[in-house]
Amino acid sequence: MPHMEEVQVGVQSIERYRELLGDERFRELMTLADDIRRRLDGRVVWNVNSTARGGGVAEMLRPMLAYVRSMEIDARWMVISGNEEFFRFTKRIHHSLHGASGDGGPIDESRRQIYERVMEQNAHELFTLVEPGDVVLFHDPQTAGLLPHARRAGVTSIWRCHIGADVANEETRKGWDFLAPYLRCADRTIFSREEYIPSQVDRKKAVIIPPAIDAFSPKNQDMDDETVRAILVYTGIVEGPPGPGLRLFHREDGSPGRVDRRADIIRMGRAPTWDTPLVVQVSRWDTLKDHLGVMEAFAELANGRAPAEAELVLVGPNVHAVADDPEGAEVLSQMEVAWRALPHGTRNMVNLVCLPMADAEENAAIVNALQRHAAIVVQKSLKEGFGLTVTEAMWKGRPVIASKVGGIQDQVRHEQEGLLLDDPGDRDGFAEHVRRLLEDLGFADELGQRARERVREHYLVPRTLLQYAEVIRDLDEEGKHVGERPD
Ligand code: UDP
Repeated sequence: MPHMEEVQVGVQSIERYRELLGDERFRELMTLADDIRRRLDGRVVWNVNSTARGGGVAEMLRPMLAYVRSMEIDARWMVISGNEEFFRFTKRIHHSLHGASGDGGPIDESRRQIYERVMEQNAHELFTLVEPGDVVLFHDPQTAGLLPHARRAGVTSIWRCHIGADVANEETRKGWDFLAPYLRCADRTIFSREEYIPSQVDRKKAVIIPPAIDAFSPKNQDMDDETVRAILVYTGIVEGPPGPGLRLFHREDGSPGRVDRRADIIRMGRAPTWDTPLVVQVSRWDTLKDHLGVMEAFAELANGRAPAEAELVLVGPNVHAVADDPEGAEVLSQMEVAWRALPHGTRNMVNLVCLPMADAEENAAIVNALQRHAAIVVQKSLKEGFGLTVTEAMWKGRPVIASKVGGIQDQVRHEQEGLLLDDPGDRDGFAEHVRRLLEDLGFADELGQRARERVREHYLVPRTLLQYAEVIRDLDEEGKHVGERPD
């Protein structure tokens, strides 16, 4: 089995958030950071998860740690190692916490040995680095088995779960029952929504911290119209001419980036023009994102001529690039078959776009351009953990139409920051929402403006930093003595 990996994280000044947060909130953040730095007294805050790239956790950790390090707090990131059997099993737990059966294999005592053996090997490595008094944030089920080791090592341990199900069922029970003995060793547990706290966890030790986005990442950074156009024309998503803009963006580390790869697109005839209103959904090719429902609802609505001559653009990653998601290729090819079955006149208005994945930041810049250019961003998920694509679109001031599931219902209040679909399977209702926003641009614009404000207020990285800092402070005040060195 390979060794644990330490991910090298950059440093990024939090100062860039001062203007967005306003002086008062920025000062509050800095005061709390000073307090935590004093309490830690040189001790380290470790993060432990199971992957350095790909997936929302890695995407969020990277900027967060860079900001924390700029506050002179030694935050580090370790990635566990495991064998195939282990990861197959933890993926099964992942599915179960979403309420799904995954590969249908067992989650019971017979698996505990496989799980614990890998945890033990990782613990052995981890706790030669981690010292008593350090704080360790463990992420997701793959790391929960390290909690008893953390307790024995005398470190303060927090477990953060990034997944959850709106309603408990037999599958969620199996997953949580399996994890429960480890979670009892955590000093705190963190969930994205109140509803995701399972009955197996001590509520008094549970805290809610919803995810957040980084306003300055390649996916969310400001981008002027000329750049958006240059990127969308170059990648082939929108018809030329590209205009005077350059297809440039700023990378995470501040260095310049340029979009150099094109999108792989299934469409009929010419690309939409720059003036064509686009209805856009960005998602992994996953059945729970209900691409088929979006396409068929749009086709029904368009039926020869869409309101405002709009087109639908369904966007996802290049499926051959995502080796650990075999389902992606399958879903995309089902979509292609369904697309070919659309009537000729409607097929014309539907574009299936696969984005290059070779460079994650380039991919993010293309997503950024697409979300900014969209007339409406939709997310008709059947289930959703949090729904970061909704947050991303809202930050760009776009009106969103999304299912009332998972964290989406926390982010969007119906008719305030977007339109919600009570029943995610309701295609007619969805089509009606699309028509309404395409025809009432004033209302769409109001929704978009309120959406950006909502994200600024609640879903940017500094808010999560404050909440994590409060968790560490509270543990310290409860006598966990964060940072206290043993005699
Ligand atoms: N995403 C991306 N490129 C793609 C498709 C998706 O960068 O081609 C990103 C998207 O912008 C978002 C994340 O993948 O940041 C998906 O997160 P979300 O919470 O919406 O769904 P999940 O994939 O976690 O179920």
